[in-house]
Amino acid sequence: MQFDYDDQNIFAKILRGEIPNSTVFESEHALAFHDIQPQAQVHVLVIPKGPYVSLDHFARDASAEEQAGFMAAVAEVCRITGVVDGFRAIANTRTHGVQDVPHFHLHIIGGQQLGRMLP
Ligand code: IMP
Repeated sequence: MQFDYDDQNIFAKILRGEIPNSTVFESEHALAFHDIQPQAQVHVLVIPKGPYVSLDHFARDASAEEQAGFMAAVAEVCRITGVVDGFRAIANTRTHGVQDVPHFHLHIIGGQQLGRMLP
């Protein structure tokens, strides 16, 4: 599969500092910020700093260090937001997954009781 990264996507602009964000956590390999249209009391997006379009792109092509750095950022977001009673992690992917922004991001949603969501 060919993954073509568009560096004009909004999260690329956030990473370059061209658009402001509400940062929750930042490290060498990842940035986490509040979703601009939160769907729950906690709704944070975690993104890698590298140019990956989607979860499967990141899983295939990111280095072990980038992947570990990303997962460490997820752990930090969970700690900082205090989602001790649980949360939902979602990676919408391409057309069928209704992905709007073509830079891999993990939604961390919680802070309240969530409903069932399939499909
Ligand atoms: P998805 O690509 O469908 O998984 O969702 C993209 C998410 O990015 C949506 O929940 C948007 O509300 C969020 N979003 C879009 N632009 C911004 C922004 O500038 N800051 C924070 N969140 C954003």
